[in-house]
Amino acid sequence: MPISSPPIPPARSATSRRRVLIVDDNTELGDTLRAVIASGIPGIAIETAESGAAALVKAKKGFDVAIVDVKLPDASGIDLITPLRAVSPFSEVLLLTGFASVDAAIGALRSGAFAFVLKSFRPEELISIVEQALTKVELKHERDELERRYRDLVEVTDVLVVALSGSDEVALMNRKAASLAGTTSDQALGRSIFEAWIPPEDHAALRAALATTRAQRRTTEVETGFAEARGARGGAAAGEGGDANAAQPSPRARRIRWHLSPSRESGDLVYGIGIDVTERRALEKRAADAEALSAMGELAMNLAHEIRNPLNAAVLQLHLLTRNLDRIEADETTRGALKDRTRIVGDEIGRLNRLLTEFLELARPRGIAREPVHLPRLADEVLDLEEESAKGRGVTIVRDLPEDGCVAIGDREKLKQVTINLVVNALEAMKRGGTLTVRVRPDHERVLMTIEDTGPGIASELIPNVFDPFFTTKEAGTGLGLSIVRKIVDQHGGDVEIESERGQGAKVMVSIPIGR
Ligand code: ADP
Repeated sequence: MPISSPPIPPARSATSRRRVLIVDDNTELGDTLRAVIASGIPGIAIETAESGAAALVKAKKGFDVAIVDVKLPDASGIDLITPLRAVSPFSEVLLLTGFASVDAAIGALRSGAFAFVLKSFRPEELISIVEQALTKVELKHERDELERRYRDLVEVTDVLVVALSGSDEVALMNRKAASLAGTTSDQALGRSIFEAWIPPEDHAALRAALATTRAQRRTTEVETGFAEARGARGGAAAGEGGDANAAQPSPRARRIRWHLSPSRESGDLVYGIGIDVTERRALEKRAADAEALSAMGELAMNLAHEIRNPLNAAVLQLHLLTRNLDRIEADETTRGALKDRTRIVGDEIGRLNRLLTEFLELARPRGIAREPVHLPRLADEVLDLEEESAKGRGVTIVRDLPEDGCVAIGDREKLKQVTINLVVNALEAMKRGGTLTVRVRPDHERVLMTIEDTGPGIASELIPNVFDPFFTTKEAGTGLGLSIVRKIVDQHGGDVEIESERGQGAKVMVSIPIGR
């Protein structure tokens, strides 16, 4: 998001009148002060008050500089400084006194007065002091305005902004960073960034970058994961005691590219500006996957075809062999052992065949059909096909498939393949029974299909790998099922996402554009 910063308005002094409040019970002196200041500082607004109480009432209308007699009928001018500045926090107070004593002067300055002026002042001297006080007030307003704008900018910006103390505790975290971290800017303060939000595998890289930034006082770049840590919620105490396992990154971890720079003012403080590169990295990975697939290319496809022929011949021979086994002269135990062996060879050939079919499906650069596909009906069909297999595993199927709507434009056969692959994965995951829930819903300009199981789920660190070709955790798996799903969904301009935690089942969400 491009940040367009509004122009900074002119300093406050140009838009509002400067105001002086004179507090003196001697009306004659008050009038003289008013005349001197009015003549020396054109355009200035001057109010007068004759007592402390009256001064506080007048102060409420606003003032920049107050000139206060030390001796007032109802108060000491020194005691008036704090309440006056409470009314107008950026104001300055000048104390007026008839006699000079070093102690009184020091006391006045200690109590926060801007200056200590003798009643025997020369007019130009008073004007100069009042002008200096007004300039200081203006600078304070300007600094406050700049700070406010800077804070606003840090808050609204789309990048992450953090500041880390010397012991790597959060001294500042803007709204964007806090929202990704699953916290608020206030709650983040004082927590260790390592214990709360950086996954353990990135600790070393970030520590090294921070050390370089601090030691060499130069900017460094580093990329880390950044996530709301499970078990690390609940304020500064969480994660204390060095229990790194308490703060495991959640599966929604983001990848952040950090630009670290040392603070110019305070020693070990480091500012980090972070850009969320999660989507960019995911795209790069997908492009690399696609490249890897096309690099396997034609040669591999031809090879696959060539393997298929001898494989089919082997299946045929095996078939004949199994039949002949019944005719050979042997006792039942020997015959049984031989049959077992041929069955194993048959199973292995079957697996090779599956691998070849899926590989060819993945590698074949074929276009897709574009026809209206009623996804609830398609899911229903697939579930009918898999019903027996589900029963055999003790899995209950829940169908949440509305009749109306939910028609996407795409390739029926390919979308069926997607559904089969996902349903089969879910069923295979539930070895000890469970529930398979399949839902289809309209979702803005898309149709969303959700396939959810109550199996063992997927460890968060494995989720990024499950779409990789040949990644499998199954003994007889090919590791191509989800790669095919991704390829087909990509061809449809859709999205596929997995939500899962170890022991919590898995939920795969596929969205396909309606594509009117
Ligand atoms: P295969 O099923 O041949 O292993 P896939 O690409 O379909 O290949 O799946 C890759 C891996 O993803 C599986 O081996 C498994 O570890 C994991 N996986 C996929 N779906 C699920 C699921 N529903 N529950 C648990 N793990 C799953």
